[in-house]
Amino acid sequence: MSDFQPRYNWTREQALALFDLPFHELLFRAHAVHRENFDPGQVQVSTLLSIKTGACPEDCGYCPQSARYRTGLKAERLMPLEQVVEKAKVARDSGATRFCMGAAWRTPRDKDLPAVAEMVGAVKALGLETCATLGMLTAAQAEALKAAGLDYYNHNLDTSPEYYGEVITTRTYDDRLQTLAHVRDAGMKTCCGGIVGMGESRMDRAGLLHSLATLPAHPDSVPINRLVRVAGTPMAEEAELDALEFVRTIAVARIMMPRSMVRLSAGRESMSDELQALCFFAGANSIFHGEKLLTTGNPDTEADEQLFARLGIRAMPAASGSLSTTVHADITEAA
Ligand code: SF4
Repeated sequence: MSDFQPRYNWTREQALALFDLPFHELLFRAHAVHRENFDPGQVQVSTLLSIKTGACPEDCGYCPQSARYRTGLKAERLMPLEQVVEKAKVARDSGATRFCMGAAWRTPRDKDLPAVAEMVGAVKALGLETCATLGMLTAAQAEALKAAGLDYYNHNLDTSPEYYGEVITTRTYDDRLQTLAHVRDAGMKTCCGGIVGMGESRMDRAGLLHSLATLPAHPDSVPINRLVRVAGTPMAEEAELDALEFVRTIAVARIMMPRSMVRLSAGRESMSDELQALCFFAGANSIFHGEKLLTTGNPDTEADEQLFARLGIRAMPAASGSLSTTVHADITEAA
């Protein structure tokens, strides 16, 4: 079977073997997969807005929005519709094609959903793709969001099943898989990735990518975050992950999920242009831009434009993506 087709029967050992390849061999293979499935000169641009900030009851060890950690973050209630629309217009006018709305909830209350649904409809009416990340969803909530016009739902696996307990104790890996199943069943696209640099091993990084690549359908978007060490969180003192190991993670994600958008997300602010260029070569083809990435910094729009110009990269137009349509597990499992 060629490297270029999606497959769902990856083993953990195969994922690890990719990580263990000589760096240039890995990058060569990843770039070949990337070029076969995408225009390597295009990068998709998304903007992320926190529509409800902080005071989250969960205990994710990396997150300044958890109510359990003293990070100095000011909690804010659900943002009014007009303000969300205003921010979405600015995002659209500065080149974003997808607008993601994030709320720090364990799970949305049913009474919160109509307001979010209204936001989704209003943002979509601006010609933007819509994405939301609101915590765990029931099947009915996923269906309600789909009916409101939501295109993507973000819910990350964060890390490997084995390391997960070191990061979060208030919800399980299975809870996450369940929400992803509801999102898929409702007919929305999934955005699902993880965070690296949380003290996990290479085997855990391979385990995360293995979990993602063996889901019933590869996530349409795979955000790969590099831990932002926020003072006051339990992970504030983690050692920084080696930059080349981060590039390896991107490259392995590209090979294992050849038609997914692999996104550079949190942690990009601290990446040099050279590191980002290597990530794009390794198969990253999506970024978040804008002033804030939920509650941590993100390179400003001007810096991104300059980087794109230096690299000869163009922003991907809306509703474009893989050169081939998404293929699901049921027809490729045997491959
Ligand atoms: S990552 Fe999400 S669920 Fe976890 S503490 Fe932060 S806002 Fe809450």
